[in-house]
Amino acid sequence: MKKLTLFLLLLNFAAQAQDKITWPDHKKAVIVLTYDDALHSQLNVAIPQLDSAHLKGTFFLTGELNSQTIPQWQKASKNGHELANHTVFHPCLSTDDNPMASEHYTAYRILHEIEVMNNFLFAVDGKKGRTYAYPCTETHVGGKDYVDSLRKYGIIKYARIGGDANAVITDFKKLDPLLVPSYGLEGKNSGTQLIDFVKKVEASGGMGIFMFHGVGGDYITVSAQAHRELLAYLKENKKDIWITTFQQAMDYAMKANNEKK
Ligand SMILES: [Zn+2]
Repeated sequence: MKKLTLFLLLLNFAAQAQDKITWPDHKKAVIVLTYDDALHSQLNVAIPQLDSAHLKGTFFLTGELNSQTIPQWQKASKNGHELANHTVFHPCLSTDDNPMASEHYTAYRILHEIEVMNNFLFAVDGKKGRTYAYPCTETHVGGKDYVDSLRKYGIIKYARIGGDANAVITDFKKLDPLLVPSYGLEGKNSGTQLIDFVKKVEASGGMGIFMFHGVGGDYITVSAQAHRELLAYLKENKKDIWITTFQQAMDYAMKANNEKK
């Protein structure tokens, strides 16, 4: 009986090992750094820190771009950062600080808006095949879920939702590429808290996605110091951790997953 239990355990272990994705260059895990809402503190603090650490991030932009910031985003794209889609107007359920109510939206209206933003981003960086983050991490507008409409329309490759510090992705077979969870930082997180999440992802062998807003300014702010500490840890552990953009991480994971089927 004991032998049988051991055998079953081993079998289970082998099956689990098979499900795991092998990351490039023998890396153990993947970390994706994402930043929402096209904030000035991202241009002024986050991007300079990323550039000096030679790390790449993904920036979910809205239509809040102007003649001053567009050249800065263009430069970020040329430096290898990903510019991604967060709609033009950021529609969400009504709150005091949210100017665009999503209650009156239809699925068609938001899909059209996402398509307009795709074209806007093409004008900025000349790239196609965009990724997306749901405004306020809400997957519905006007009381209806629009994830399947987005899937049918085919204008977005991968989409990010929210989550907490448990948003570590290990089961890529079950992962819906249009519902990819992330660790939505609530602001004022310490460097240690951020690094703890990375360590958890490393131990799992999977993928972890950070969702930042302000860095050293703006709102839902993580301090410049905490962000710097996180980047220093990532840089030190580059041999074991693949730090890449949302699109590249997902392209790799989906391809590796399909090859297994
Ligand atoms: Zn947002």
